[in-house]
Amino acid sequence: MKKNYKTGTNCIQAGYEPKDGEPRVAPIVQSTTYVYSDPERMTRLFDLAEEGFFYNRIADPTSDVLEKKMAVLDGGKAAIAVSSGQAASAMTVLNVCGAGDNFISTSQIYGGTYNLFDKTLRRLGIECRFADVGATGAEIEKLIDKNTKLIFAETIANPALSVPDFEKFAKISKKHGVLFAVDNTLATPALCRPLDHGANLVVYSTTKYVQGHASTIGGLIVDGGNFNFAGNPRYADFNEPDESYHGVVYAALPVPYVTKARVQVQRDFGFTPAPMTSFLTNAGLETLALRMKKHSDNALAAAQFLKNHKNVAYVSYPALEGDQNKPLAGKYLPFGAGGVLTFSVKGGFEAAKVFIKKLSLIKNVTHVADIRSCVLHPASTTHRQLSESSLAECGIKADTIRLSVGCEDIEDIINDLENALCR
Ligand SMILES: *Cc1c(COP(=O)(O)O)cnc(C)c1O
Repeated sequence: MKKNYKTGTNCIQAGYEPKDGEPRVAPIVQSTTYVYSDPERMTRLFDLAEEGFFYNRIADPTSDVLEKKMAVLDGGKAAIAVSSGQAASAMTVLNVCGAGDNFISTSQIYGGTYNLFDKTLRRLGIECRFADVGATGAEIEKLIDKNTKLIFAETIANPALSVPDFEKFAKISKKHGVLFAVDNTLATPALCRPLDHGANLVVYSTTKYVQGHASTIGGLIVDGGNFNFAGNPRYADFNEPDESYHGVVYAALPVPYVTKARVQVQRDFGFTPAPMTSFLTNAGLETLALRMKKHSDNALAAAQFLKNHKNVAYVSYPALEGDQNKPLAGKYLPFGAGGVLTFSVKGGFEAAKVFIKKLSLIKNVTHVADIRSCVLHPASTTHRQLSESSLAECGIKADTIRLSVGCEDIEDIINDLENALCR
């Protein structure tokens, strides 16, 4: 029977098919290494001529289930799980960029990614060229030269909440033969599949909605397998033999990007997830489709409530009628815009602090995109290392409150907001 299941089914079942007598739930395999009686077979594994596990830094059976499931959910060819969202973003760049190379990113991205791109990778000689998410195609094309290796954007930027015009970025990526990677953390494959809109790679902090329950840090990259590396002069690394991996030519393999990420970047940098991480991530992922529907419904109701409240100065939520991101959200997020919204209370930062202290059900935490409702004041916490101009570039104001609407009953969420807003 052809297995062309829908997203909700794949969240629960994809990636693992037990045989008779095997566990119904994909188990944690808590072993670093694997036994082979035939040394020649082990050589074939190292040659990538045969599939199999040999050492967990590179691949392990527990993560393999999660990787296969996420590849199915995003419509990709393969995936690699890593130890955090930051590791995923770093690997995305390090797999294609060395000193002297550059890449383009929208400036509306997660603060940790901004820091990595703007400061830490720059120290390694890799230059990130930022473009406003709303920049014209011509403005973005001006940033491309022969050493440009990647275009990077976020589906729903955390916390700017901007939605990129996928078509615009995909067109540039195709025209110049440059990889297009999308951080899909806040949308997840339940709400948006970037590969369907011309992306080549999908990047995740699985810490957020994918795992969903604020128990586990993790990251992952899905490879669309839809980018032609062969003969592309931008990617000499993929077309010349890798001396560090006994002469393999990645462009000649079925999924070049993720294979190189695994046998070279993961082997050398060790951004490896623990089997327990992948087990917990996969368990949380089972309910992703259910949760994203509830998060989206609850957040829209909370946004509407806030918009009509006399003590609220502004609300931003991509699915809210009249929101500046609504046209692109309508196009790329037809099933909902997830649980994250931003707003400010009248009276600025001081009033925001009073509001946060008065909340009871909704907790003030660093985390976002959790099944439990939570808030954060980005300018004084996650984004406090950024200058005022960098804050503005990331789409954050001094009084912005980020509200991550959970899956609790909406009446209880709104009561808590109402109580904290009353003066
Ligand atoms: C949290 C987050 C990251 C970083 O992920 P960690 O798992 O915390 O390392 C990257 N991108 C986005 C959009 C995020 O929200």
